[in-house]
Amino acid sequence: MNLAERLRAAAERLGGRTVLTLDREELSYRALEVMSARMGVLLRRRGIRPGDRVAVMLPNVPEFAVVYYGALRMGAVVVPLDPLLKRREIAAYLDDSAARLVIAWHAYAETVEAGTAGTRADYMFVVPGEFRRLLRTMPPDHDAAVRAADDTAVILYSAGTTGRAKGIELTHANLGSNADTAARMLALGVDDVVLGALPLYHAFGQTCALNATIWAGGRLTLLPRFEAGRALEVIRRDGVTVFHGVPAMYIALLDQPGVSDLSLLRVCASGGAALPLDVLRAYETRYGCPIIEGYGLSETSPLSASNRGGAGRRVGSIGRPVREVEMRVVGDDGRELPHGEIGEIVVRGPNVMKGYWNDPAATAEAVRDGWFHTGDLGREDDDGFFFLVDRRRDVIIRAGYTVYPREVEEVLYEHPAVRQAAVVGFRHPEVGEEIGAVVVLRAPASAEDLRLWVKERVAAYKYPRRVRFVDEMPTSPTGKILKRALGLTFTVPDDAG
Ligand code: AMP
Repeated sequence: MNLAERLRAAAERLGGRTVLTLDREELSYRALEVMSARMGVLLRRRGIRPGDRVAVMLPNVPEFAVVYYGALRMGAVVVPLDPLLKRREIAAYLDDSAARLVIAWHAYAETVEAGTAGTRADYMFVVPGEFRRLLRTMPPDHDAAVRAADDTAVILYSAGTTGRAKGIELTHANLGSNADTAARMLALGVDDVVLGALPLYHAFGQTCALNATIWAGGRLTLLPRFEAGRALEVIRRDGVTVFHGVPAMYIALLDQPGVSDLSLLRVCASGGAALPLDVLRAYETRYGCPIIEGYGLSETSPLSASNRGGAGRRVGSIGRPVREVEMRVVGDDGRELPHGEIGEIVVRGPNVMKGYWNDPAATAEAVRDGWFHTGDLGREDDDGFFFLVDRRRDVIIRAGYTVYPREVEEVLYEHPAVRQAAVVGFRHPEVGEEIGAVVVLRAPASAEDLRLWVKERVAAYKYPRRVRFVDEMPTSPTGKILKRALGLTFTVPDDAG
């Protein structure tokens, strides 16, 4: 089924109910359906044909949904772009996807214009009032182009925190099944109000916030830029019941002064990066709302595993594979390892991407016999719960010993003065890679305090020899700490840090 048909079905059921909120502005299901139907016509008139790529560079505003469903409805492939991209990155993604058109927020006009130069893409800027006037001149055509289940719906560019960005092709079936799963996991319904704080251009926000909420008939209240104080205001103002966030958001919420009454909030979900145990406990005590941790990647639409309520939850674990999805831990030879042993996590199911766009070699390397190789290391316990150990490429080998940064980070988070911590390896002539810690403090502490704190609690080869303080952690817009950049900040021989 074309994803836009799900919006149409929801609009038939829910008509005048609010689907999207941004500050004082509200859009009903019917209005979103009509606007996206007109959007499909607008794209056709601009010469876009089914299968053509249309790049979308919009913040979390209602127009994102209008353009997204409008393009999908007429059969185009949506290429969502991170609004923070610079000219060169835009040009590279437009070239790689051979996009015909970029639809961008007016505030990005200068960068986008420069980014399209020399590519075959045309551009169109969204100025809210004008955009709506233009749409009203189009007839609504509610028919959706027929899309096969394995036709590509979106191409997501994900550079992760290292390496060249690859286009991840997700089909209508990938995204459709995963959003259904996400909605069921949290038992989303028509009375739910979901906070749309995660960027919608990323798989996590698109599936769990946008698609899952709409298909469940709920309401999504958008937050164009996450800021903890503002998020609390919106949660109270709109009676938010469900919040999807990355660990950095939960950490920021913990730092907010005063106790907050968030009594309507019934469930929070965390993913995208490791949620430190201390953060989870402190958050739950403070706000009285459970955080359900899940796991996934853009390549898996993204939800692959999740904790559930009650006995389905094991704190510190990423939970069990979600409906219709299988997960295994395999060794270097690709064979499944016994429970308890650490190996690479592989995933198989309807959520696994069609492949990397125009890159059959990378696809064949990543997906073998239907199993997607995640690059994440983990283990499975006897009850089928998975525990993430670390990313394969973040593992540090110090003098022949394997150090999982996450284990050391957890110890740092237990220190009362530590707000955020990242442990990275840096090149060292004697031990090959040495352990460094980069820390954001919430109370005074010295590098020596923290070195000793960890040294007393872990094997001697694991504690950080260097501790450096920063005011803010460099993170990707989806909350991942940019570790490669941090590793380069340490130098040998010893410097001030
Ligand atoms: P992305 O493709 O940008 O969605 O990033 C996917 C990566 O995020 C995974 O490969 C993991 O390394 C990381 N990740 C996702 N969920 C979790 C989690 N619950 N705990 C730790 N890392 C996670």
